[in-house]
Amino acid sequence: MSNSRKSALDEVLHREANHVDTGSRRVSEYFGENTFHLDKMRECLTEEAYKVVKSAVEHGTPVDRLHADQIATAMKDWAISKGATHYTHWFQPLTGSTAEKHDGFFKPIGPGKAIERFEGELLVQQEPDASSFPNGGIRNTFEARGYTAWDPSSPAFVIGKTLCIPTIFIAYTGEALDYKMPLIKALSAVEKIAKDVCQYFDKNVTNVKATLGWEQEYFLVDTALYNARPDLMMTGRAVFGHSPAKGQQLDDHYFGSIPERVTAFMRDFEYESHLLGIPVTTRHNEVAPNQFECAPMFEEVNVANDHNLLLMDVMEKTAAKHNFRVLLHEKPFAGINGSGKHNNWSLGTNTGVNLLQPGKNPKSNLRFLTFFVNTIMAIHKNADLLRASIASAGNDHRLGANEAPPAIISVFIGSQLTKMLDDLEKSISAGKMTPEAKTELKLNIGKIPQILLDNTDRNRTSPFAFTGNKFEFRAVGSTANCAQAMTVLNTIMAEQLEEFKQNVDARIESGDKRDEAILKELQKLIAASKKIRFEGNGYGDEWVKEAEKRGLSNLKDTPRALDVFGRKEVKELFDTMGVLSPVELEARHEIELENYILKIQIEARIMGDIAKNHIMPAAIKYQNTLIDNARGVMEVVGGKEGQEAARTQINFIKSISKHINGLNDKVNDMIEERKKANLIEDAREKAYAYCDNVKAKFDDIRYHADKLEIMVDDNIWPLPKLRELLFTK
Ligand code: ADP
Ligand code: MG
Repeated sequence: MSNSRKSALDEVLHREANHVDTGSRRVSEYFGENTFHLDKMRECLTEEAYKVVKSAVEHGTPVDRLHADQIATAMKDWAISKGATHYTHWFQPLTGSTAEKHDGFFKPIGPGKAIERFEGELLVQQEPDASSFPNGGIRNTFEARGYTAWDPSSPAFVIGKTLCIPTIFIAYTGEALDYKMPLIKALSAVEKIAKDVCQYFDKNVTNVKATLGWEQEYFLVDTALYNARPDLMMTGRAVFGHSPAKGQQLDDHYFGSIPERVTAFMRDFEYESHLLGIPVTTRHNEVAPNQFECAPMFEEVNVANDHNLLLMDVMEKTAAKHNFRVLLHEKPFAGINGSGKHNNWSLGTNTGVNLLQPGKNPKSNLRFLTFFVNTIMAIHKNADLLRASIASAGNDHRLGANEAPPAIISVFIGSQLTKMLDDLEKSISAGKMTPEAKTELKLNIGKIPQILLDNTDRNRTSPFAFTGNKFEFRAVGSTANCAQAMTVLNTIMAEQLEEFKQNVDARIESGDKRDEAILKELQKLIAASKKIRFEGNGYGDEWVKEAEKRGLSNLKDTPRALDVFGRKEVKELFDTMGVLSPVELEARHEIELENYILKIQIEARIMGDIAKNHIMPAAIKYQNTLIDNARGVMEVVGGKEGQEAARTQINFIKSISKHINGLNDKVNDMIEERKKANLIEDAREKAYAYCDNVKAKFDDIRYHADKLEIMVDDNIWPLPKLRELLFTK
């Protein structure tokens, strides 16, 4: 066996679970211990400073310089008491990961003398040398200034010896260079209008927050095996590898018992997460072998998203201690399930009401229906934009594959709510409602909680499903920053609610009673958004045909999905909602295209390298053994009989030649296409070329490589096989 594969496998076989002692404390005793949350601030700030920061957290009001100084000092003292020596502004550049630049608290103040300092100025704003972060042409490199600015609504935290302060990242000229700033803007837009709409039903609602509960799927692979697979190291996915004899057919991994080594890892990263105030509660095996999921309690969207990013980081760091690598890629292994990051979303009020939770009486149900139907309408109007928000090279492998939600956006609400909406649509007459009609409607609306109790037929194949008291956006990729999907979802919801409120107000002004006005408006929306609703199997081919008939888009790959950002109405939407200016949107489109091109380019290169430097040499070596053997057999046996005796070897030699040639030819074709694509200046055209001409060759290349894998002697095959990556414990 090749040395690297053999020693990797040996290493794995001798691994033991690395148990970490998390002490005997209960989670409630240390939860959030390493975060500077509001309760902590109350302990160490003056009452006035506390009020200022509390209002900043809850209502987004600014923090003045004097109080910023006080908060900074308290934060520094707290961080130092936790062992921190450095601080960093923690931000989310458009690279897709988080960024940090560490500075020491310590400041020399004379020969041999130093103090620890950290003022409000350093807390509130920083200027990282940010010229190498993607900006989509917004910042010329000679005007490379980018600023990070404190986001008080997400608590600062200590990791290791560093105080991390969540921040937004903006250009000198004010444009957003990150994912957080547009998210915060979208949230404030939806929260304001949702509050106004709530006022129809309850004057006590003065504050609404959008909520997010994500579910993170991932694979674990042993470090030694990972290191022996250049493709996993470079791209996070296995670009080659024949399907193992056993995949997930037996469904024996799903919710099965978790292996000991994995449990030890999970306990460790959950402990670290809890210290950071990330409320992870759920863990289980997923469908594919070595695939797992973790999920927290939901939180306000901005904090939930920071927590997801932080968790991905914590997972990777903790995995290293357990000799695992976390694969967050959407499709690390062909032929078995990919990974997603379901985004459960709702809106909650200061009065403790979940606006997507049906109530106990017709009045609260009218409120529920208002938010429910408006969400469906928002998706209906903006399905393409929602699709664009989850576009990435990795997710392209997953969307539309037979176990992932399709690239066609539709909404599942369950048969009972479908009937409810259909009835509602029919029962409201165009003119004034008769008293009987009103009573009947009220009776009908009053029934929602009962019917929901029975409504357990959850459709797992829908990209956007109502699940009893929230919507679940399932098409989000496992590596994604949820901010992308959440910015779009909350923006389109804000726009829809604004339109709804305008129309309802207009009806009230022209004499309709409030409930009647709302019902009539809902009826209109139910009728108008009907075609986005789909209750059937989203994985089936029939749905593709049916969706086409309905006129729904099926944007199958990233470059095509990203084109949506170039549409006039999309620019107007983001602009009028105050979320992204046309310049910012164009920059984002450009950056996403660049990311796509780079991802495919790297995959293409690694495919070429592995094919030529690993697979072909092994195949040729084995072929030489066969040739020696065939020659020997023919020589010993001699004549026609000798030829017959060496028949199998000769056929093998021919087959191997065929696949070596095939592999080499296809790789060369792909390299030619890459060369052509690289000459293209325009990012959009280049992304199309990479998608349609370069990536289009991947399957053919893989076909030959995977054929060789099952022909060549296992002892000399250089790469750990999928069976080994997925099943070695
Ligand atoms: P599954 O989708 O695996 O069946 P659930 O339906 O129990 O699991 O969904 C659990 C997820 O939904 C959790 O991550 C939870 O935090 C989230 N969730 C529950 N209520 C809300 C809400 N009001 N807003 C946002 N997310 C929520
Ligand atoms: Mg789910």
